[in-house]
Amino acid sequence: MLDGHSSLAKPLVLVVEDEAALATMLRYNLEKQGFRVEEASDGQEALTRIAEGPPDLVLLDWMLPVMSGIEVCRQIRRRPNTRDLPVIMVTARTEDQDAVRGLNTGADDYITKPFNMEALLARMRALLRRSAGVTAKGMLQFHDMAMDLSAHRVQRNGRAVHLGPTEYRLLEFLMQHPRRVFSREELLDAVWGPDIHVEPRTVDVHIRRLRKSINGDGELDVVRTVRAAGYALDTEPL
Ligand code: CA
Repeated sequence: MLDGHSSLAKPLVLVVEDEAALATMLRYNLEKQGFRVEEASDGQEALTRIAEGPPDLVLLDWMLPVMSGIEVCRQIRRRPNTRDLPVIMVTARTEDQDAVRGLNTGADDYITKPFNMEALLARMRALLRRSAGVTAKGMLQFHDMAMDLSAHRVQRNGRAVHLGPTEYRLLEFLMQHPRRVFSREELLDAVWGPDIHVEPRTVDVHIRRLRKSINGDGELDVVRTVRAAGYALDTEPL
């Protein structure tokens, strides 16, 4: 059933850093703390990687070859599907701290090199909690929906939503990763478990049931179907 150790349950961090030694150190420490890590060594590569499917968080170096961290961040904010993507800007002491503080960059937070790993992890976790819509212990929130994980209850617009066990786990997973597109295979892996062998089309059946249960009359369909890619929990049609 739902495998808490499934690789998809681990947050994916994109480390954008041109200093190879620092990127390696970050990867080592983040993986040790239960994150999945991908790397990009310049701004263009970072944007290409993000376009393929946004990570849960971006650790973005300010001074990068090809395109600066600031420009990368602006482009992330300009695109509807990554507008709310958590970004932490990594700066050196010599760089323009006022501009960073002014948040002209669009970053959610910033940290100055050389930084303490514990401090970075604390900021990352705080940002991930915020972006996952965890309002309090055991509560998930997305748009007008709330999931109480301890009571196993779902509400939309204040009314109770009744879900089957699979639809519940599917919604829980999607609410933990809002706006991120998952393929049918990824959803099978995360919700059914990597060792369960069912047809990818099974996902479509449960998505249909989930939609029927959560979308009341006149309510926005918050499950987005991405042709040839999969599904996402999203309030934007595209
Ligand atoms: Ca750099």
